[in-house]
Amino acid sequence: MSIEAAKDVLKKFFGYDRFRPLQRKVIEHVLTGQDSLVLMPTGGGKSMCFQVPAILMPGTCVVVSPLISLMKDQVEGLRTNGVKAAFINSSLSAAEQHQVENDFFNDELDLLYVSPEKMTSQSFQPLLKRAKVNLFAIDEAHCISSWGHDFRQEYTQMRFLKQQFPDTPIIALTATADKITRHDILHQLDMASAKTFLASFDRPNLSLEVRPGQKRFEQILTFINERSNTSGIIYCLSRRSTEDLAEKLQNAGHKAAAYHAGLSARQRSEVQEKFINDQTPIVCATIAFGMGIDKSNVRWIIHYNLPKNMEGYYQEIGRAGRDGVAADTLLFYSFKDVMMLRDILGKEPSAQTDLQLAKLERMQQYAESLVCRRRILLSYFGESLKKDCGNCDVCRNPPTYVDGTVLAQKALSAIYRLRQSEPMGTVIDVLRGSGKKEIRDKGYPSLKTFGVGRDIKNASWQHYLAQLVQLGLVEIAYNQKNALKLTEASKGVLFEKQPVKLVQFSTIKERQEAEKNQVRKRTADAGKQDELFQKLREVRRNLARDFGVPPYQVFSDATLLDMVKKKPMNDREMSQVSGVGERKLYRYGDFFIDAILDHLTEKRGQKGSTYKLTHEMLKKGLTVEEIASKRSLNPATVYSHIAYLYEKGEPVDLSNYISQKEVDTIVQAVPYVEKPIKLKSIYEYFDQAYEYYKIRLALAFYNRNVKKVKPEN
Ligand code: ADP
Ligand code: ZN
Repeated sequence: MSIEAAKDVLKKFFGYDRFRPLQRKVIEHVLTGQDSLVLMPTGGGKSMCFQVPAILMPGTCVVVSPLISLMKDQVEGLRTNGVKAAFINSSLSAAEQHQVENDFFNDELDLLYVSPEKMTSQSFQPLLKRAKVNLFAIDEAHCISSWGHDFRQEYTQMRFLKQQFPDTPIIALTATADKITRHDILHQLDMASAKTFLASFDRPNLSLEVRPGQKRFEQILTFINERSNTSGIIYCLSRRSTEDLAEKLQNAGHKAAAYHAGLSARQRSEVQEKFINDQTPIVCATIAFGMGIDKSNVRWIIHYNLPKNMEGYYQEIGRAGRDGVAADTLLFYSFKDVMMLRDILGKEPSAQTDLQLAKLERMQQYAESLVCRRRILLSYFGESLKKDCGNCDVCRNPPTYVDGTVLAQKALSAIYRLRQSEPMGTVIDVLRGSGKKEIRDKGYPSLKTFGVGRDIKNASWQHYLAQLVQLGLVEIAYNQKNALKLTEASKGVLFEKQPVKLVQFSTIKERQEAEKNQVRKRTADAGKQDELFQKLREVRRNLARDFGVPPYQVFSDATLLDMVKKKPMNDREMSQVSGVGERKLYRYGDFFIDAILDHLTEKRGQKGSTYKLTHEMLKKGLTVEEIASKRSLNPATVYSHIAYLYEKGEPVDLSNYISQKEVDTIVQAVPYVEKPIKLKSIYEYFDQAYEYYKIRLALAFYNRNVKKVKPEN
């Protein structure tokens, strides 16, 4: 079984022209009958690594998958691509299970998805032995590790596979790459000799952005309006805030829903269903949402609050852009969030608290970073980026530095005069000379530094103080009600006039403007294509409804964008679009071709150049009849387009429609008919022997090659 044969399968069933580099290596390895462990980020294309060999090799690949919803989604996706796939889990009736087991036994399946319970159950063993299994795939293999967050007891019993089926290869796959998990998987599956394939965990199509958390709602509205009608998730910390936010968005005219663990199972599945089907594009959710959904066209993620750690953050933003198309992520950061999270952690101290605090600190460093964010993110996961990413807010709007010496002196001196006993909020109040009662009650207006920082806004002070903390010039005593303290290093600034460089604070408005320009630049091209994209999305939505599958399973956004680029007008061209396999071409192709032709006709019509479209369609090998029917035109009109194009010197070949002999005969009539020439005169001259369209074409030949005369109809 060669990689060439595997490529044919990839094209035929999935419509892709080539494997991604690591996919190719994995598949080559699997086809030799050896075990593998595959670590790839979400959206990396793990499934192809076992699906292609499964189809190619005789027998069935048995896939263990921990979530019923994922199983269903994958099997549906495979079926729409014409692959023979089925699943067994508790959602099936006994009779349905029996049917699937029969198909499995009779070797009528390429892939069989089973739950871990089923896989390890006694009743399944005899069937497993008697059926023809070509490969075991353990999806979400990190569930094996008791260290991980999704630990599943049944996964630890999977060791029997290697013992009872020593000749059947195993492939384990996960998007969790840490060393402990890796080791656990190899150990638990008893496949020490498996080859490990590790992909980069970078997701370059995800843009990264952090903004100060002021006026979040307004910022969110702007963000959403710039991305109208696209799917996205807003992660919030509490159930309450998911509901508040969803309601506010609804009031602002957006289709949004809240999702959290407090809803009934039915309510939750309804929200999820509508999200998947693009009916409710926006979901405000607690972290529970998104797990077990394969929806590939989530276009953006917003974090309303700072996540607790980088792992969670990366997993959550990772739910966007699984189709590889650009997707945007936005994180709101405020110091208050850090305090709140610290408080939560502090309330129930455990053996893990220190570790969790350290993780929170890394998260905070990321949010406050002044260097490329992707570098920080990847370095956290043990990878290093060779150069700045160019797709994060820091790369796009590099910080401007200003001399912050005087500013730092004021702040440090205020902290000193407050006897290092007040938190950031109070320090800022004193610097700004606040008239608040508690400030007056404490007698702070008499301090020397009271009001020396009046000219600087509250938000700016927060930003500058956070920087002083980062620079080690100020410390936060978390155990003393977050009081700000001086450090050894602050002395240099306070007493020795050491200069301090700070990053200039830019207001949200300024940032939004800058970002908007970026978005505009990025979408300028896309915008031109956007109209067609929207039309294709609508075709997709209708087909999804008719066929009862989620829209992204009809075609992914990536496939629609490729259609927008290639504008296929016939089956041959449509099959060259990435993601269009044989089955989908047959099922959906015409609907999209029609929409593209409609669109082009409309466009050309506006510009008054219907000829061009005919020409393009001719070039693509469509016949006159096909063009006429696709464009709802009379064939005679299409012939007149051809004649026009020929006269203009375009390279159209008249001999497809009329012989040279016919041309010569018709042209002989020219001197004998009334001028200006009417087609009808020639028609009658020859006693109706030649059809109108032939006369039109012959005259075109005459006009281009002999003499200009203007025919009239
Ligand atoms: P994962 O399971 O790793 O999250 P998927 O298997 O769902 O990733 O693949 C992510 C997306 O990439 C899917 O839309 C899939 O169809 C697409 N894809 C996978 N392999 C290829 C390929 N070789 N060429 C183009 N697209 C691919
Ligand atoms: Zn960057």
